[in-house]
This record gives sequence, structure tokens and C-alpha cells, in this order.
Amino acid sequence: MIKHEPEARPDQGSIFLIQSYSTNDGPGIRTTVFIKGCPLKCLWCHNPESANSFPELMIHDDRCIGCRKCLEICPVKAISFHPEKGRRINRKRCNRCLECVAVCPAKSLTAVGEIMTVEQVMAEILKDELFFNRSGGGVTVSGGEPLSQGPFVLKLLMACKERGLHTALDTSGYGSWSVLEKLLDYLDLIMFDVKHMDPKAHSRGTGKSNVLPISNLRQIPRDIKVWIRLPLIPGYNDSTENLNKVIALTRETGAEKISLLPFNRYGDGKYLNLGRKIPFPGINPFSRKKIEEFRAHLERSGLPVTVGE
Ligand code: SF4
Ligand code: SF4
Repeated sequence: MIKHEPEARPDQGSIFLIQSYSTNDGPGIRTTVFIKGCPLKCLWCHNPESANSFPELMIHDDRCIGCRKCLEICPVKAISFHPEKGRRINRKRCNRCLECVAVCPAKSLTAVGEIMTVEQVMAEILKDELFFNRSGGGVTVSGGEPLSQGPFVLKLLMACKERGLHTALDTSGYGSWSVLEKLLDYLDLIMFDVKHMDPKAHSRGTGKSNVLPISNLRQIPRDIKVWIRLPLIPGYNDSTENLNKVIALTRETGAEKISLLPFNRYGDGKYLNLGRKIPFPGINPFSRKKIEEFRAHLERSGLPVTVGE
């Protein structure tokens, strides 16, 4: 069955969200551009809509009013009606044409992801330019994984710099050094995820070893500001041994601070809307007290530590 995939053009990117007034993705008030597509499969990911690079269908069963317009338009008969359960969608049959999204009057079917040009993204970014100037903010390119669309991200960062905007990259570092290296001239800040210091554990939690991202982190020149971001996952990377290794890496690379991103369950509903299973069932977020204990441990190293930003 033919699925609809974006064509790889350097002036076009697959974007799943452009978020204005963001205060957790770098200094000041920022506009964050979320790139769709990621080579990692982190078990705790709270943005499951970022995983695939192509636009896809999200289903919100509670909004359906039963008008059957989607049933009539679906070209591959992926939609059916059950007498009690109402509208059903066979995702294996669905070819992601998204025609049902256009006719649904209740937003019960929505699309996540859009192929956009650099000019289109810049037009959205520049609506917020006044806020950047007043707050010391700017633009953050996040994901998904921005390095997965290197040529597009490069053009976007160049356009931001032509406009004199502060730029930040939020990355797992999982991409080739040649891609990351090209972006460096157009970046003021890199927020670099360190998910686990042990290669095997990293692979267990994300599907890939940490050898490539840590090698990339070590190659970033010292004159570029780096923040280490540690997604803190219960029972996975919260051991004292792992935290101490993160401290050592932060010192070694000259990164400015460690930012803790405690595990949350914000993505659970989105997994269901995408027809996927909720990961980590039964695992609860850390208490505030526990997070403060982690922060205190890291701060004893003398490094600045923030939580959630
Ligand atoms: S996106 Fe909607 S209309 Fe298109 S094949 Fe899938 S269910 Fe049918
Ligand atoms: S078009 Fe939307 S509201 Fe109408 S039956 Fe389909 S999903 Fe439900």
C-alpha cells in the first residue's frame, strides 16, 4: 500500500509544531520549531507525534458526532462504523492521505505534521520578533531530532541569523558530525540531551548507543554555549553513578549547566490518539522532594543546575 512520505528537499521541512511564547527552551521568550522525525525511540518520549517524519492522522474518539463524512471520502475503505463503538479506523489499511481530516466537522480527525518551506516557518517566527527583542529570547529548533533534517535546519538557522535572531538547537546529538558541524556557525546555544552514560543502557532506553552523540558533544568548540539536558527517568538513569558521570562529562566539555527534565506522563493521551500503546505503564513521575534531592546532588559539584528548562 502506498504511504504518503515527504520528499527530501533542503528548502522544505516536516514540522509538527511551531510554539510561540515558549519559556522552557532557552533564554527569554522563544518560538520553538519542532522538527518531525527522530532516529531514537526513547521509551519515555512525551512527544510521540514527533517520531515519524511524515504527517499522520490523530484520532480523537470523544469528539466524533457520527456524521459519517469520513466514511464517504476514505479512498481505501479504512473507516467503518460499529453499532456500539461508532467510527473505527483500520490503521493498517489507512494510507495517510488525510482526506478525512479535511471533511471532519468536529475535529475528531486531525493531522499532525506539515511540510513547510523556510519562508513559511520564518513568517510564523517573525510574528513573535517583538517578544524576542524585549526578553532576550529567540528561536529554538527542537524535535523530534533536528539533525534528521540537517539541510532544512541549516537554511532555517541562516534565515534567523540574517534577521539577527538568537538561535538555539535542542538535540539528542544523534546525527553525523558533518551535519552538526555545518550548523555551528549559526547557533548561539546548543541544548544537548544526555540520556544515559552507559552505551548499553542508552541503547536499551532509546534503541541506539550513545557513542555517536557523546563523540559529537566532545567535538563542539568551547566558544559555543552548551547546556546539558538530562531527561530524568525513574529506575533508568537516576543512579548516583550515572549522575556523577554526567557531572564529569559536563565539566570535561565545558558545558555551562545541567538542566534536569523529570519524567512526566503528558504524552499518554497522544499515544492513544496515534493508535499506539502507552509506554512505561505504572511508572509514576518523581515527587517534588525527590527531584530536589537530585538537584542538590548535582549542585554539590559546583555546577549550575536547573529543573524543567
Ligand atoms: S487518512 Fe483518512 S481518508 Fe485517508 S486513508 Fe486514512 S482513514 Fe482513509
Ligand atoms: S467526519 Fe468526523 S465527526 Fe463525522 S463521523 Fe467522521 S470522525 Fe466522526
